Amino acid sequence: MRRIAVEEAFITPGVLAGWKKVLASSDVEPGFAKLGGSLLKPSKGTDIFLGKLLDIGAGRIAHMDEVGMAVEVLSLTSPGVQLFDADLATGLAAEANDQLAAAIAANATRLAGLAAVAPQDPQAAAREIERGKNLGLNGVIINSHTRSEYLDLPKFGPILEAAEALDMPIYLHPREPGPSMVGPYLDYGLYFATWGFSAETGLHAMRLIMSGAFDRHPKLRIVLGHMGEGIPYYLQRIDNRYALQVKIGATARLPRKPSEYFRENFHVTTAGVTSMSTLRLCLDELGVDRIMFAADFPYEDDGEAVRFMDGARITDEERRQLYETNAMRVFNLKV
Ligand code: MN
Repeated sequence: MRRIAVEEAFITPGVLAGWKKVLASSDVEPGFAKLGGSLLKPSKGTDIFLGKLLDIGAGRIAHMDEVGMAVEVLSLTSPGVQLFDADLATGLAAEANDQLAAAIAANATRLAGLAAVAPQDPQAAAREIERGKNLGLNGVIINSHTRSEYLDLPKFGPILEAAEALDMPIYLHPREPGPSMVGPYLDYGLYFATWGFSAETGLHAMRLIMSGAFDRHPKLRIVLGHMGEGIPYYLQRIDNRYALQVKIGATARLPRKPSEYFRENFHVTTAGVTSMSTLRLCLDELGVDRIMFAADFPYEDDGEAVRFMDGARITDEERRQLYETNAMRVFNLKV
């Protein structure tokens, strides 16, 4: 079986330059001021990420060979273009997608990718989803909130509509919480991936569910990394308290239970998690069809991710589904 990893990051020189400009400006979002500051500061040793993020050519393929990765599904690293004003973001997303398509063409048996979009301009983002599909890309990457706004808002309808109509799954990837929410997360590094990333992205997913987005877009597919950002653990309680809240008028009634949308419209990936008990929980709650392997290179040790999945206490048929067949189906991979 081939190992296919579906949440693997890269950056373009254009987006990197844009980030540096934002960090130097006075109106930088407080979460990104910290996150971007630590990612881009070579003195903290994290400059090792930048070289790896910028390389989607020979260096990347050589590293994949080293760890035994057959295919990487690449996506523009978080928070991508979502910091910028609409025009700059739209232009940089298109540029990133062109560079990604060229990298894939150069290594067509090893790479696939997701289209970056700028939610700041929903109509342009919808057009970019279509252009991304025509470039041969296999889905859409959205790094959670855009200036504290979430995709359930009516203004983002064109994005959900295009993703659904073009059969392009949206990978809802974490970023630091937005200005309206980040306050208590700024201490102790909690804005980052210890806790803030999952809290933010889990909230985003729950807003989509509770807003009725999947009644408006029943074929829309969302992919969450990090074993579902905590939601699989809470599914029973979410349904239980939803039922109470409907009864007392605190929540509008949906046609279906929240967990039913989660089990039908969502997939999760193992990105960044190498815990057998967490994988077991996802298998029990969601079923093997709903889970895909991801490593989260270069932020995580992909060699360790491979060793975990190779040795996970599951059947070989399940391993094949997690490593290969689910990703082929969910992202319509041709690779
Ligand atoms: Mn990631």
